[in-house]
Amino acid sequence: MKKKRSIKNREYAVIAYGFLGVFIAMSLYFAYYLTFEAEDFINNPYNARVSLFSENVIRGDVLSADGQVLATTEIAADGSETRSYPYGRVFAHAVGYNTNGKAGVELDGNFNMLRSHSFFLTRLINDFTDKKDQGDSVVTTLDASMQQAAYNAFGNYRGAVVAIEPSTGKILALMSKPDFDPAGIASQWDSLQSDSESSVLLNRATQGLYPPGSTFKILTALEYLHEGGSTEDAFNCEGTYTENGYTIHCYGNTAHGEEDLKGAFARSCNVAFSQTGLSLDLNKYRTLAENMLFNKDIPTKISNVKPSTFSLKKGDDPVLVMQTAIGQGDTLMTPLHGAIIAAAIDNEGVVMEPYIMDKIVNDNGDLVRPYFGETYGSIVSKEDAKKLKKLMRSVVTDGTGSALLSDNYKAYGKTGSAEYTSDKNATHSWFVGFANKDDKEVAVAVIMEGAGSGSSHAVPVARAMFDEYFKE
Ligand SMILES: [Zn+2]
Repeated sequence: MKKKRSIKNREYAVIAYGFLGVFIAMSLYFAYYLTFEAEDFINNPYNARVSLFSENVIRGDVLSADGQVLATTEIAADGSETRSYPYGRVFAHAVGYNTNGKAGVELDGNFNMLRSHSFFLTRLINDFTDKKDQGDSVVTTLDASMQQAAYNAFGNYRGAVVAIEPSTGKILALMSKPDFDPAGIASQWDSLQSDSESSVLLNRATQGLYPPGSTFKILTALEYLHEGGSTEDAFNCEGTYTENGYTIHCYGNTAHGEEDLKGAFARSCNVAFSQTGLSLDLNKYRTLAENMLFNKDIPTKISNVKPSTFSLKKGDDPVLVMQTAIGQGDTLMTPLHGAIIAAAIDNEGVVMEPYIMDKIVNDNGDLVRPYFGETYGSIVSKEDAKKLKKLMRSVVTDGTGSALLSDNYKAYGKTGSAEYTSDKNATHSWFVGFANKDDKEVAVAVIMEGAGSGSSHAVPVARAMFDEYFKE
């Protein structure tokens, strides 16, 4: 009898502890939800609760790192609110818009701008007088002068520019063209949506998937070095190279003659690099590409970023191998990813996750919440970053990036002229690279659709960015 009761007690104990366990788990989840998930849930632009917030709070501002107002809410005499964008189209894709599903910082900072941390007495008085509280502002990492420099230098081409501070991951400029008037987006929505030809609403910086062209030689060169190759290995270029019935051309059919790998990299020789590609272990090549974030989610808290793709594998057609080695074939890369690769090489191989919201402040400018760049980790080793830096410097001293030679800073990079149709003369103009002076440094990626060679168009835009960044 006694024994039986103790078993029963044990059963009660098991049940009680079970309930306690469930209770603790639910409490922990609730705490977790309040801390992390609630923000995402409330931030969802389709959530009806957000409009409830905006009945009590005047949407806060979006500011640049240097304090310029990029978006603000203007209140008319009758109390009606209008969202205005003092820089107009310049920050269109980066700051985004506040209607029609939202985009950019207007989307990512939505929750923050609809909450108020004004002085509590002010809020109390607002409560009694039935006035709205002033929402908090998002201070971005964006540098207004860098963004403006990118915008002006780019002209009327389609494409994108991204500038990142390599040591922190701060996004200094994020530009995409064609652009739109963010204040008038609601009235133009239908025509913008139906415009599939120019895809105005597509943020090309984070979602534009382009053939990387010769910028991909950074990866091809590194894999070649990993497999025992040397930067002094000799090649001979006669302007074209035919293998398996397919002919690879150097840009403009230029014959580069006798050269080593370093020279072939500097002058972007397709003949040398297609041969280099044919010598590679394709599975290792693919692993290297994936280590460098191809086929992976880009590590960033910015919404709606597309992953880049690399599909080459062992046994693939040699023609596809040659094309892939020079950044053609099936490989696609976003400008943001190009800037991340350049930033990592400058930062001894370490990727700092790119971010655009730097901190939240109240209407008095007092800090409500800071954000920090998080370390993703190394995508290339420190030694490899050093080797790539040397190759990328030779592009500026002896190759297609010579327009970046400056007494004021030291520039590094790789140009690209990426074919996107069967017409070999129609190319996207690419540049990815970085520049530094003392302990100041910046990485950029530039793509200009259909503009021509990398050196003729993307390099001058990079030059304008570097000049602006390092100006005294
Ligand atoms: Zn060549």
